[in-house]
Amino acid sequence: MNDTNSAVAPPTGGPADPAANDGLVAANRILADQGVLDGYGHVSIRHSRAADRYFLSRSKSPAIITAEDIMEYDLDSNPVDQQGRLMYIERHIHGEIYKARPDVNAVVHSHSPTVIPFSVTTVKLRPICHMSAFLKNDVPNFEIRDCDGMTDLLIRNAKHGAGLARVLGSSNVALMRGHGNVCVGADIMTAVYRAVYTEVNARLQAQAIALGGPATFLAPEECELITGRRDTNFQRPWAMWKSRISIK
Ligand SMILES: [Zn+2]
Repeated sequence: MNDTNSAVAPPTGGPADPAANDGLVAANRILADQGVLDGYGHVSIRHSRAADRYFLSRSKSPAIITAEDIMEYDLDSNPVDQQGRLMYIERHIHGEIYKARPDVNAVVHSHSPTVIPFSVTTVKLRPICHMSAFLKNDVPNFEIRDCDGMTDLLIRNAKHGAGLARVLGSSNVALMRGHGNVCVGADIMTAVYRAVYTEVNARLQAQAIALGGPATFLAPEECELITGRRDTNFQRPWAMWKSRISIK
């Protein structure tokens, strides 16, 4: 496992924006509180002044992360200043998505439980309510066997991360077969919103399936009308979610 420091540390992209890193800490704790992240999973943000750097906590459970845990990485997921801290094995998820998606500035990787069944069956995750219209089109499903044969399913290196980023394509969410999912956004609030409502959508879809009979999902045109709104306010749920966690 590649948890040790690389031979040559990359230079820093410059000082972090303290407010952005506070938002990253809040995102970790919100997603743990919302049942999206458990003891595992992680959230990152791209460096606001250096597009080729990103910030991610050291290897630690999301519910107890503080600002001191945040580390800077280059897009090959090498730490700028490791200070002996343990790193997430799956950090290549973040680096490779940032390489492939210049429009993405925040990434959530979770094992949110209700979503996983949709990654291992032929039932496709589809947008079932207006809050999850961002699941428009087909939600892709990353099959790590197609990328690297038999593995322990973790995204352990750049090859796995790049394979996942390729399957994600231009989508907002990708499932990871038998593992979890990734949700991305142009900012941290959007990525967190999508992670929460991907889990909610999976729960609602499973309930609709249990009721029996055909379900009516959002049409692509409805998804476009909803996601194209200019008055969407992610600040509102963010403020409520943040009020539930122990940091201000
Ligand atoms: Zn994982």
